[in-house]
Parts: sequence; structure tokens; C-alpha cells
Amino acid sequence: MTATPGTLYIVSAPSGAGKTSLVKALIDAEPNIRVSVSHTTRGMRPGEVDSVNYHFTSREKFVQMLEHGDFLEHAEVFGNLYGTSQSTVLQTLAEGHDLILEIDWQGAQQVRHLMPQAKSIFILPPSQEALRQRLDNRGQDSEEIIERRMREAVSEMSHYVEYDYLVINDDFATALEDLKAIFRANQLRHAPQQVRHGVLLAQLLA
Ligand code: 5GP
Repeated sequence: MTATPGTLYIVSAPSGAGKTSLVKALIDAEPNIRVSVSHTTRGMRPGEVDSVNYHFTSREKFVQMLEHGDFLEHAEVFGNLYGTSQSTVLQTLAEGHDLILEIDWQGAQQVRHLMPQAKSIFILPPSQEALRQRLDNRGQDSEEIIERRMREAVSEMSHYVEYDYLVINDDFATALEDLKAIFRANQLRHAPQQVRHGVLLAQLLA
């Protein structure tokens, strides 16, 4: 039986809302869901691994790839370039896997335009204070960068209305259950269920 193409999900959040941890917990629990590894020109943070967290790329190489049409979407965020590989997205979906793009609102707008069937999820922190605390707790960025990220966070959050789903990350376990529910409901749509349960349906209707 052929697999139905996977669903493309866009997940956005302001920096510090817990998006990366939530997505990691989701894919650990759901093996059929993949996460796209973006290209970026920003420097590696401590603990990050090339080709795992990002494909860390020089600006020159990024621009070359851009001109070559390699990116499904791209955007400049905090002065660095980020982009999603078009071929990887198309291949992963064709193999029948659901795929998550962890991208900002600018990239989300581009993807929605190109692939209107994509589902989009916005993750929000429970308060501005919680967000600031999470940014402080990272201990990886200077006060100046944290202040700038707070301003950028408010600007990013103003786009929540463009998304299909909103998840509030107050309690991690609850937010994870909310995310799982979105994916589960989508997997139960009749088109993919028809493919999965073709034999059963044929028997039931005989
Ligand atoms: P960070 O550098 O903190 O990992 O990510 C900064 C911002 O860039 C986050 O909002 C993240 O979602 C966004 N981002 C990461 N990868 C991509 C991408 O491939 N495309 C776009 N448009 N944004 C991205």
C-alpha cells in the first residue's frame, strides 16, 4: 500500500517560549514526525552540533544556495540568515512522514503562500516575565541581546493570529499533550485513514 504524503507543519514561537524542547519531546514520542534542519549563517552556540541543530553555513554559501533556488523559504532574523531546504522538505513529505519546520513568522508566511495545506502552530509563553526569565536562564546571551530578543519576541507574537493553532507553554507536559493532540487529529482525517485501513473499510462495506 502506498503511503499518503505527510503533512507539513510550521511551528513558530518567540525565542525562549520553549519551542525547541517541546518539538524534541514530540518527535521522541512520535517516530513518524521529522524536523527539518535549517541552514543558518549565525554562529554555533555552546552545545550545538552542526547538521543536528542547524547546517551552519557561511553567508557566501547561503547566498549561493539562495540564488540557486535551494530554499523553500528564507528570512533574516536577528541579523542572521535562515533558510529551509526545499528538496529535503519535498522528499520527506513524499516518503509519507509528517515534517515540522521550526521557522519564524516571515518564513511561515512564505510557506503558507507556497503550500496552503500546511498547518501552522504558534507557541506562546504564559507571560512576558516568564519569557524574560527563560531568556536569562539560558545564560548564553548578553543583556543587550536579551533586551533585543524581548522586543523581537513581542513583535513575533503579534503574528499569532496568522496561525491555525495556539499552544500556551505554561506547564510543559500540558503543552506537549496539546501539540500531540494537533498531530493526532490530523492523522485521523479520513484521507490518510482510508489508506491505512483500506482492507478494513473494504471488509466493512462488503
Ligand atoms: P535561533 O537562532 O535562536 O535558533 O533562532 C532564531 C529564530 O530563527 C527563531 O525564531 C527560529 O524559529 C527562526 N528560524 C530558525 N530556522 C529558520 C528557518 O529555516 N527559516 C526561518 N524563516 N526562520 C528560522
